Amino acid sequence: MAAKWSNWARQQTCAPARIERPANEEQLSEAVARAAREGLPVRPVGSGHSFTDTCLTDGVLVDQSGMQRVLDVDPRTGLVKVEAGIKLHRLAAELHRHGLALENQGDIDKQSLAGALATATHGTGERFRNMSANVVGCRLVTATGEVVEIDEERDPDTWRAARVSVGALGVISQYTLRCVPAFRIHRIDELRPAAEVLGDLDALVAAHDHFEVMALPHTDKVLTYASRRTDRPATPPGRIAAWWNDDAVSNAGLGAACGLGRLLPGAVPGIARTMSGLIGRYEQLDDSHRVFAHERRVRFTEMEYAIPRAHAVEALERVRALIADRRLPVLFPVELRFTAPDDAFLSTAHGRDTAYVAVHQIARAEYEAFFRAVEAIMDEYEGRPHWGKRHFQTAATLAPRYPGWRDFQAVRARLDPEGVFTNDYVRRVLGPVGADLG
Ligand SMILES: Cc1cc2nc3c(=O)[nH]c(=O)nc-3n(C[C@H](O)[C@H](O)[C@H](O)COP(=O)(O)OP(=O)(O)OC[C@H]3O[C@@H](n4cnc5c(N)ncnc54)[C@H](O)[C@@H]3O)c2cc1C
Repeated sequence: MAAKWSNWARQQTCAPARIERPANEEQLSEAVARAAREGLPVRPVGSGHSFTDTCLTDGVLVDQSGMQRVLDVDPRTGLVKVEAGIKLHRLAAELHRHGLALENQGDIDKQSLAGALATATHGTGERFRNMSANVVGCRLVTATGEVVEIDEERDPDTWRAARVSVGALGVISQYTLRCVPAFRIHRIDELRPAAEVLGDLDALVAAHDHFEVMALPHTDKVLTYASRRTDRPATPPGRIAAWWNDDAVSNAGLGAACGLGRLLPGAVPGIARTMSGLIGRYEQLDDSHRVFAHERRVRFTEMEYAIPRAHAVEALERVRALIADRRLPVLFPVELRFTAPDDAFLSTAHGRDTAYVAVHQIARAEYEAFFRAVEAIMDEYEGRPHWGKRHFQTAATLAPRYPGWRDFQAVRARLDPEGVFTNDYVRRVLGPVGADLG
């Protein structure tokens, strides 16, 4: 009987011929080579936290949960060698024990390192690049089972391709990452008038190491997460404040509100206003990995677009107006984050100061009309969709948005000439192997 697999949001499912669970690189390369010999396609999978069909296959799914070791740590240089399947929460905890940290993180830490890097997962902060920019080197298992060593010195093009690969080059078994000395963060979450925050956005983003805006639909309020790095000692929030913020409002309250909103879509604007009244000021001062990552227990689906930073306010205002004007039954905030440019060929922040605009809808609710309307807005800014989040683009629409597109495709054609690591998603967003090379 075929195995079954589904993603975190439980909206993408497949029945692969088999799921391989290698415990080390040798087993991984045997598993990949065996699949290729049998003519089966291969897809690597991390924690299944992508919302797209990027991991689905009826061939062989390679799950690296058994490959989570930290192999080498050099606290002096900050260079750390790890197995690619390591989960971010485990990696962050291990780094902390060595006096190190990840330079920046997104808002959860359940992902595998390889999965997060493959889709250009990012946090926020105009001086920081997405996580893949800190990859110094990696080891990639190709369809023949051969292991290729990749770093900038050996081959800059392959290195720029492998840092954000959408799993289309092979299965990465190990990374060498540049980490930073451990640091603490002082973060203040508070509700503020949207006009005040958006009117002063550039100054607020510049004044904080990490600044994020959560625009609350159907209200004139935004919740801001404003973080500064600090040497002050950790003072974790009180138990009641943490419970109210993390459990009662962000999870139980949001889940209940969304459930009610599905039953009574017409009441959503009123529910949204009531919800906003429950949000209070919340402060954290703790080690970076404890402040960056939060629990997300309400299952949802998401679309996120990377656009040039200069359009951030206009794009967010247009999405807020879309939700308000159409009275869309949306309760999740519209999220706005920032990163610095980098040079990975498929990084969503390739070559430009970037703002990320994300919209969410609770799982099981209709999302497509809303997401398509948001996508139409983002198209006007040459938006690049997050590779792990929903979008409706194709290779034809994406190619012009990535200056390094052909360079990536050339590396792909060299490393995976037979298209063993292709599935429907990869075919749709990257096209067939070699198609773009003329
Ligand atoms: C609740 C939630 C919060 C999130 N928050 C953020 C956020 O703050 N910022 C952000 O940018 N994104 C965020 N995401 C998106 C998430 O970070 C990405 O979708 C990420 O890719 C998921 O990692 P994963 O380990 O689950 O990978 P998967 O979804 O399992 O896989 C993602 C991709 O990685 C490839 N892959 C996996 N392992 C390997 C390997 N060893 N070698 C080569 N390719 C591989 C897969 O083939 C696939 O293409 C969030 C998602 C959820 C569900």
